[in-house]
Amino acid sequence: MSRLAQTAGLTDVQREILSTVRDFVDKEIIPVATRLEHRDEYPTEIVEGLKELGLFGLMIPEEYGGLGESLLTYALCVEEIARGWMSVSGIINTHFIVAYMLKQHGTREQKDTFLPRMALGEVRGAFSMSEPALGSDVSAITSKGVRDGEEYVLNGQKMWLTNGGTSTLVAVLCRSDEGHPEGTAPHRSMTTFLVEKEAGFGEVRPGLTIPGKIDKMGYKGVDTTELVMDGLRIPANRVLGGTTGRGFYQMMDGVEVGRVNVAARGCGVAQRAFELGVSYAQQRHTFGKPIAQHQAIQFKLAEMATKVEAAHAMMVNAARKKDSGERNDLEAGMAKYLASEYCKEVVEDAFRIHGGYGFSKEYEIERLYREAPMLLIGEGTAEIQKMIIGRRLLEEYRFQG
Ligand SMILES: Cc1cc2nc3c(=O)[nH]c(=O)nc-3n(C[C@H](O)[C@H](O)[C@H](O)COP(=O)(O)OP(=O)(O)OC[C@H]3O[C@@H](n4cnc5c(N)ncnc54)[C@H](O)[C@@H]3O)c2cc1C
Repeated sequence: MSRLAQTAGLTDVQREILSTVRDFVDKEIIPVATRLEHRDEYPTEIVEGLKELGLFGLMIPEEYGGLGESLLTYALCVEEIARGWMSVSGIINTHFIVAYMLKQHGTREQKDTFLPRMALGEVRGAFSMSEPALGSDVSAITSKGVRDGEEYVLNGQKMWLTNGGTSTLVAVLCRSDEGHPEGTAPHRSMTTFLVEKEAGFGEVRPGLTIPGKIDKMGYKGVDTTELVMDGLRIPANRVLGGTTGRGFYQMMDGVEVGRVNVAARGCGVAQRAFELGVSYAQQRHTFGKPIAQHQAIQFKLAEMATKVEAAHAMMVNAARKKDSGERNDLEAGMAKYLASEYCKEVVEDAFRIHGGYGFSKEYEIERLYREAPMLLIGEGTAEIQKMIIGRRLLEEYRFQG
């Protein structure tokens, strides 16, 4: 166990889960991650291992076959997994968001249909808000679902679906004007549709095409895709929660827990970067001593470790707040913002400590250097987090004069 990023007050069950996951990461993920990442290869065996550990159902209630664990347990597991390879945490993240949205907002029939199979990892979730022309500005969504008898007909193009190819259930946010008169505020005229599909690429069901994997600078292994709906017919009982017009709020609820998750990923990647940096600094000699003995490098290590600690503490705080049933958008926004910025800085410092070797694909830090930037963008950019934080602060500290 590392001295950094400890979490006080965990139960025996939480400690046991975390120790099992850490062991799995050390034995099954870290040794193969860089090789698979360089080949952009999907980590099938790792995913099977995660299924066996029950991680796909970690937060799904026990009555649906999951482990019924808290957001904190989940986030700490994600931190461990991202320490091994961030892409693997991406594979479970969208699944977790969709399962969470079903648990919070689904009808009884939707929960009964999907959650037990999601807990086993048989049904795999992805969520889709972004489009080619928008990501931050969700209210500008143009994809549309129009009622036709007992069905909805969906048209539009979606962008940046993590697990777009491997998933079999996609929560798709569309505009739906049914029952919402012209001029209704954009966030009140959106609906989340639960779209079942085959895994794979091409036309995966009539009217639904997943064109192929987007070629990315990092975050490889996990598939990121577009999604094209052209007259896609969805039964009316696949509107999440059974009522149109609630999609924006449902998605924002999902993204809020997703932000804790991205913060946890930032913590995990930063921890790994620190481990690599502190180890290399004691092996590499310059001017007659290990570089760790040069004060400039020690200061770097001190700054890196402090950032790892601070990000972990904020992430844990945000998760605990949500688990206590309180609104956590402020804490989740702060944790996501800080953890992703610190992650990028800690990774860069570890890269610098490696000197020229950091630039070589033989060294793990090269992979981390390409992975960290994704955390600055996913689940809302830094600017969007600051908008959320700023608005909430003005609500809390309203001028009383
Ligand atoms: C690898 C990857 C995986 C992803 N996975 C998913 C997924 O599974 N599902 C999904 O729905 N989306 C996903 N996304 C999309 C992601 O959520 C968006 O990329 C992100 O929200 C930013 O949107 P954008 O790319 O359209 O940038 P834009 O919204 O165009 O923003 C461009 C720049 O302008 C800034 N900006 C925008 N508005 C403002 C403002 N009002 N004030 C100040 N600055 C502003 C932004 O911060 C950013 O710096 C993924 C993205 C990536 C890269």
